[in-house]
Amino acid sequence: YEEKYKAHWDKVYEDLSNELTDNFREEFLDMHPYDQSLFFIEQSKENRMRIYAYLSPDELAEIMINIELDNTPAYFKEMNPRLGAMVLSEMPADDAVDIFNEMDKEEVVSFLTIMDKEAAEEIKHLLHYEEKTAGSIMTTEFVAVYKSQTTEQAMQQLKEDAPDAETIYYLYVLDEDKRLVGVLSLRDLIVADEKTKLEEVMSEKIVAVSVAKDQEEIAQMFRDYDFLALPVVDFQNHLLGIITVDDILDVMEEEASEDFSKLAGISETDRPNDT
Ligand code: ATP
Ligand code: MG
Repeated sequence: YEEKYKAHWDKVYEDLSNELTDNFREEFLDMHPYDQSLFFIEQSKENRMRIYAYLSPDELAEIMINIELDNTPAYFKEMNPRLGAMVLSEMPADDAVDIFNEMDKEEVVSFLTIMDKEAAEEIKHLLHYEEKTAGSIMTTEFVAVYKSQTTEQAMQQLKEDAPDAETIYYLYVLDEDKRLVGVLSLRDLIVADEKTKLEEVMSEKIVAVSVAKDQEEIAQMFRDYDFLALPVVDFQNHLLGIITVDDILDVMEEEASEDFSKLAGISETDRPNDT
């Protein structure tokens, strides 16, 4: 497998360097998104500029969200700003917010002004939440249905929302006031009778996080409850967003390395005198 992988990688590299656009696209897009990112970060600036030219904004967005956050702003600097804005518009809002948090303020403002209006609004909204709280790591692309709908109607709704939803694994059920009153998994939906109302099949014992909750506590909730996503609500129980388990994995990694540096810092400076 490894040899095959290396041969493929070399071929992609050759075609990119020789500007064989179609071949490059076909072979590159055949790679797993994570491998695409690995390939990307190993390229020279010249080859990176080719990649920006050969891929579409949504294909580039996929690469950018897999790259170490510290390095991402530099890539956006070398792209044409209009392309950069399109790439940022294509990615899930929470990923774009993560990148914006690494950029200079002026840069953020200039991107927001040329970005797709709707995407920019979404991001501005998310940027208002305190860093490291549920609000700052949630995404607003979730599947919401109403309790008076039948499972058949919910399935139809799911079909419409699925292309853009961060996860289609859970459907969040709202009442007339858009308050979160229930949840059901895709499995629950599929096994229920088509004519059943959602309120009859949904689970009403909802585990939710408040929008101001600290990310470390949220990570603990994921460990405890084993859900693939958790809903985020305001104090009136309106559904604002969801946090998925892959977002939380990033948080756990971040927190672990912070704890580690703290530990290392203490052993450097606060070492007791051995005299
Ligand atoms: P699987 O086989 O993948 O486990 P599942 O239907 O059991 O399928 P789980 O992710 O294990 O899915 O969820 C178990 C149950 O918990 C589902 O019925 C789901 O509706 C419910 N659930 C999901 N999210 C929440 C939540 N935030 N609070 C309370 N219950 C939830
Ligand atoms: Mg289960």
